[in-house]
Amino acid sequence: MEKIIRAIRNFQYKGILAIVVIFIWISIVLLVELAGIQYRYGKMSLPFLEKEEIVTKTASHETVTEDMLLIRDSRTVDADRVYSEFAQIFTDMKVGYRVLDVAREPLPPLDSYKTVTVLLTDLSALGNGILDLCDWVYGGGQVLLAMTPESSPHFDAIKSMLGITDVSENYTLVDSIYVSSEFMVGGGRGFVIDHPFDSGMLVRLDEARTTAYAWTDDERRVPLVWEATHGDGRFVVDNFGIYDRVMRGFFAASYSLLGDVCVYPVINASAFYLDDFPSQIPDGNSEYITRDYGTTIYDFYTNIWWPDMMNIADKYGLKYTGLAIESYDDHVDGTADAKPDTATFLNFGNMLLRMGGELGYHGYNHQPLCLANCDYNGIYDYKTWDSYQAMKVAFADLVALCDELFPDVNMQIYVPPSNLLSAEGRAMLLKEYPQIRTISGIYFEDANLDFACEQEFDVDENGVVDQPRLVSGCALTDYMQIAAISELNLHFINNHFTHPDDALDPERGAEMGWERLKARLEEYLSWLYGAAPCLRNMTGSECSAAVQRFAAVSVQTEITEDGMRLTLDHFVDEAQLMVRFNDRTPDTVSGGTLTHLTGDLYLLQAERATVTVSFKE
Ligand SMILES: [Zn+2]
Repeated sequence: MEKIIRAIRNFQYKGILAIVVIFIWISIVLLVELAGIQYRYGKMSLPFLEKEEIVTKTASHETVTEDMLLIRDSRTVDADRVYSEFAQIFTDMKVGYRVLDVAREPLPPLDSYKTVTVLLTDLSALGNGILDLCDWVYGGGQVLLAMTPESSPHFDAIKSMLGITDVSENYTLVDSIYVSSEFMVGGGRGFVIDHPFDSGMLVRLDEARTTAYAWTDDERRVPLVWEATHGDGRFVVDNFGIYDRVMRGFFAASYSLLGDVCVYPVINASAFYLDDFPSQIPDGNSEYITRDYGTTIYDFYTNIWWPDMMNIADKYGLKYTGLAIESYDDHVDGTADAKPDTATFLNFGNMLLRMGGELGYHGYNHQPLCLANCDYNGIYDYKTWDSYQAMKVAFADLVALCDELFPDVNMQIYVPPSNLLSAEGRAMLLKEYPQIRTISGIYFEDANLDFACEQEFDVDENGVVDQPRLVSGCALTDYMQIAAISELNLHFINNHFTHPDDALDPERGAEMGWERLKARLEEYLSWLYGAAPCLRNMTGSECSAAVQRFAAVSVQTEITEDGMRLTLDHFVDEAQLMVRFNDRTPDTVSGGTLTHLTGDLYLLQAERATVTVSFKE
């Protein structure tokens, strides 16, 4: 031992030896870190289903029992649009239904139904059937009046059964909605309604027989959702009179007030997308960044925006999904611009991956994958690609860049630029790049273009998931806040996207300044995770895996004397379900875990295909 120490002491190149040792040490640390990135990246918290386990939402819905009668009148204005909204809500909730069109047939006997949903504003369309319906409720039936009724002799005849003591002749303005905390996850506060109109009845309720769950958020407190007991049964009345996609969750929550217990599958995921990240950072300055920070866009992105976004992710446990874009040129012939700044691209991408995030594709450039048959109707000034081949070659350039910079990272998500994607573009992606398992468009589309990528949460026969994003930006407008609570209650999901350049664009709130925008985003996050602490933070692909399970599963609920038994069809390894216990209180659970959300609402995480819940006395 002494010999060795002496040898080292006498060794002439001690300095160099020390450097070599340090160098080897750094190499080992870097290798371990790199392995760490790959390991964490490769392992999804929820894996994709195998192909033979895939069931589309429609196929799953077709197998459920038709327990509900859905009453509509095909003769009325807007009847088809309203009907298709509700058909979608009940498909997603896996509630089986038979449709009765009162234009064609009278009310059938109701013995074989558990619930009825009425999509009529003019109740006289049911004729005397309306009285049979009330008798059925008196005997224990459960009815949702989903549309605001209009004044008619038939409505007058039954209004007291709906708990109404007083009603005005004309509709009144519904410009806000206060959601009680026990009614919906994220309630206990008011929401502003965008583009309001006179859409609700001005009513007074018999307080002894009714419970109000939502009302206008003003001194009038006009009831907008309530339930009224009638004999042994129950009516639930929706009086906000807006039948747009953004209100789906309000209808789902209203429907769940029917029956002893209501159970429906949900997704249970919270995903955050960073569009155009990594990308080429624009040169130069921007008005609001210069105003607030006196710095360049590059400095803002690198030293302010990204560190702030990393802190926010850390605080709430968010997993970002970044959508890579190589260039902002407008080539549409398949040629590429000069080589991009790969150092920044790589740096941002690696930091995102190291945080547990995911990378997906956004495009070679920001020109949508659309060919000459697309017309942007003057809404966008994008070009169309010269040919299928040009589109393919350009996309291959992005894929090659990502393969080079992020080897071993499996990129499985595509997000279309500006949410525009043609059928040819989609087909090209899925044919040429089978690693793409998710196309993520948006849920609320107002640009009325044939090739706007408007989606429902669903999966195709091959397991490719449509996973629409719901809300965007940091300013979180009134509309987005309603959208957020609505989807939190229909699908138990948050799906958000933002761009690094939100703080540069006055249309996305740049005038407020980044500090204010960041505070708005944090207000949203604290509302979201305050309301739903059990919401699972997921990458885009993990969220898609959750969508696959949501699409496949359906539930059969049997209520017995002392509990309920849920049988889950197409159950693979887990299922997420929203449960409202109306007339019962849950006690012990087997086959899953029950987590209280609010009021009588619970999240059930099923671990087996059969779940039993006992009730308290
Ligand atoms: Zn973009």
